[in-house]
Amino acid sequence: MSGSALFDTFARAPLSFDRGEGSWLVANDGQRYLDFGAGIAVNSLGYSHPHLVAALTEQGAKLWHLSNLYEIPGQTRLAERLVASTFADKVFFTNSGAEAVEGAIKTARRYQYVNGHPERFRTITFEGAFHGRTLAAIAAGGQAKYLEGFGPKADGFDQVPFDDIDAAEKLIGPETAAIMLEPIQGEGGIRAFPTQSLRRLRELCDKHGLLLIFDEVQTGVGRTGKFFAYDWSGVAPDIMAVAKGIGGGFPMAAVLATEAAAKGMTTGIHGTTFGGNPLAMAVGNAVLDVVLADGFLDEVNRKALLLKQGLASIADEFPGVIAEIRGQGLLLGIKCKVPNTTLNAALRQEKLLAVPAGDNVIRLLPALTVTDADIREALDRIRAGAAAVSASFAAAAN
Ligand SMILES: *Cc1c(COP(=O)(O)O)cnc(C)c1O
Repeated sequence: MSGSALFDTFARAPLSFDRGEGSWLVANDGQRYLDFGAGIAVNSLGYSHPHLVAALTEQGAKLWHLSNLYEIPGQTRLAERLVASTFADKVFFTNSGAEAVEGAIKTARRYQYVNGHPERFRTITFEGAFHGRTLAAIAAGGQAKYLEGFGPKADGFDQVPFDDIDAAEKLIGPETAAIMLEPIQGEGGIRAFPTQSLRRLRELCDKHGLLLIFDEVQTGVGRTGKFFAYDWSGVAPDIMAVAKGIGGGFPMAAVLATEAAAKGMTTGIHGTTFGGNPLAMAVGNAVLDVVLADGFLDEVNRKALLLKQGLASIADEFPGVIAEIRGQGLLLGIKCKVPNTTLNAALRQEKLLAVPAGDNVIRLLPALTVTDADIREALDRIRAGAAAVSASFAAAAN
C-alpha cells in the first residue's frame, strides 16, 4: 500500500489544526493561521462561535437523529424561517450541496411531469459551473476533468458558454425542463452573472414554462452581503439549492422552492435518512439567529468594502501579480497574472489561508464575523505575499 489509508482524491497541504477561534486556526505545532478560506465558505460564523457551540451541545445532550418518520420541530421552524426570508414556500433538508442540487433537479423534472410534460427533463447550465460531485451534479457542471472515467455522462444536461443568454435561448427545446446557474460562480472563479442576464433568464423561463434553479450553495446565507445573492438582482428563482454556510460548519443543506415548483414532490417520491436531523436543525437555527439579526448583513457589507478597497490598492501596487479584484460581499476573488497556486503558496507562507478557484483566481471567503483588525492583518499578509511573488518573478526575469 502506498501513502495513507485514505483515498488519494485530495492534494492536502501538510498542515493540521487543533482548534479555531473566530477567523483564526491554531495548528498542532501551535502556529496561528488567519483563515480566509473558512472551510470553503462553510464556517460562516468563524470557529467556536459561542451561540453555535451552545446550540450544538444543548441539542447534543437531547436527540441527535430521529429519521423523517416523525415530526422534527426544529426542522419545521427552520423551514418557516427560510420561507419567511426568501422567495420560497417549501423546504426539503439534505446533508450536502450536491444532494441539494440533485433535489433541485428532481423537483424541476417532477414539476414538468405532474404538469403533463413527462418529456421535459433536460436542464441547461453554463460553462464554468460547479454543482457538486454526484453523477448528476458532474453532468450538470459539465467539466471534463470531473466527468472523465465515470462512464457515460448522465443524460439530461446541456451547456452553453458562461453568460451566453442568446445561446441558452437557442438551446431551449421540447425536452427542456429548467435552467440552472450559480448567480456568482464560486469554483469557476468568482464570476457573476449581470443582473440583466438574470432578468432575461427569468423571462425565458416564464415564456417557455421552464423552472429557474439557482445554486446558492456557495453564495447563500449572507456570503455576498444579502441573505441570498439573488436579493441583489431582484430576480427570484423557482427552486434554489442551499448548503455550505447554512450549517456554520455542521453538514446540512436544503432545497427551497415555490409551492408551484414543489408540486410534484409528493409523499414517498423523494427522501433522505440524515437530512433535517435535530442536531443539524439546532445549528441551522442558531446560524439564522445571527445572520438574520438586525444590522448583521450591513456589517458584512461594510467589512467587505474595507477588504475590497484594501485588495484593490494591493492590486495597483503589484500589477505584475494581480490582474483584478472581483466578487461581492465576502466572496471575493483575486484574479492572478502569475499562477494562482504560486500566489496561494506565498500567502500560506504568510500564514494566511485562501482557496484557489478556476480562471486563475484565488478566493477569499472569510467568516462573516471577521473583524476589522483581522481584515487589516489579512491585507498586510496579502501585500507581503504579493511582494514576495513579485520579487521572485523579477529575479527569474534577470
Ligand atoms: C460546494 C458546492 C456544491 C457542492 O456541495 P457539496 O456539499 O460539496 O456536495 C454545489 N454547488 C456549489 C455552487 C458549490 O459551491
